[in-house]
Amino acid sequence: MTSPKSKNSSTPKNELLPGRRDGSNAKPRARPVRSHSRYSPAEVHEIFRRFSVQRPEPKGELEHVNAFTLLVAVVLSAQATDVGVNKATRALFKVADTPQKMLALGEAKVGEYIRTVGLWRNKAKNVIALSEALICDHGGEVPDDRDQLVKLPGVGRKTANVVLNMAFGQHTMAVDTHIFRIGNRLRLAPGKTPEQVEQGLLRIIPDEYMRHAHHWLILHGRYVCKARKPDCPICVIADICKAEEKTNDVPAPLVEIAPLEPVSEIQ
Ligand code: SF4
Repeated sequence: MTSPKSKNSSTPKNELLPGRRDGSNAKPRARPVRSHSRYSPAEVHEIFRRFSVQRPEPKGELEHVNAFTLLVAVVLSAQATDVGVNKATRALFKVADTPQKMLALGEAKVGEYIRTVGLWRNKAKNVIALSEALICDHGGEVPDDRDQLVKLPGVGRKTANVVLNMAFGQHTMAVDTHIFRIGNRLRLAPGKTPEQVEQGLLRIIPDEYMRHAHHWLILHGRYVCKARKPDCPICVIADICKAEEKTNDVPAPLVEIAPLEPVSEIQ
């Protein structure tokens, strides 16, 4: 999974939303950041209602068998494609699907399995270090708290948000390059940093859609609202969209679509 560049990876204290919706167990905080979304609550609701009709059960494309292997896969996916990571982890997870087995395998062997993944040397080091930290500090379990997750080697805010959402069902928003683009292009949740877009989206997306909102936005950005040229004629929210680049006002027919094949380009 790829990330937009962040000028400041740490979130200022006053940018956190109340309660567990921000993925942490911290006490609720006041003064969430304003998103300046150009959409009314009814429009936002309608956008996500249509996404939910298109893809009732969206799935992430990183293969994993438990929370630990999901965490490792997301760590490996930085600056790499999901397809490339899956090719490497299929064999790796057969021999090491727990922190204990990964640690026993050792950095050199892990490196051999993931050699086709970009930055593999550093990632092998991080996979071993985070396995060790999970065993020492968390009884070998992946914590369901973002403050704890981001202390693990190689784990940043986006990785933590993906794990909290996919493994623990928390209403987090992991802002990758696609979601960052959509938040700004559509003026849905504009922001200069991924954290600002994250906070803006968390403010406006109705609770009922938060479980899958992350995947819907990624898939919309990957296959429809693409980086170089948005494919507006096949877009189901073309009538609602307020993007300047929009080329079409007529929404595409709203039907459930089959999962698309993963793409292999690095974005
Ligand atoms: S209408 Fe075009 S610009 Fe707007 S969301 Fe759809 S694809 Fe993106």
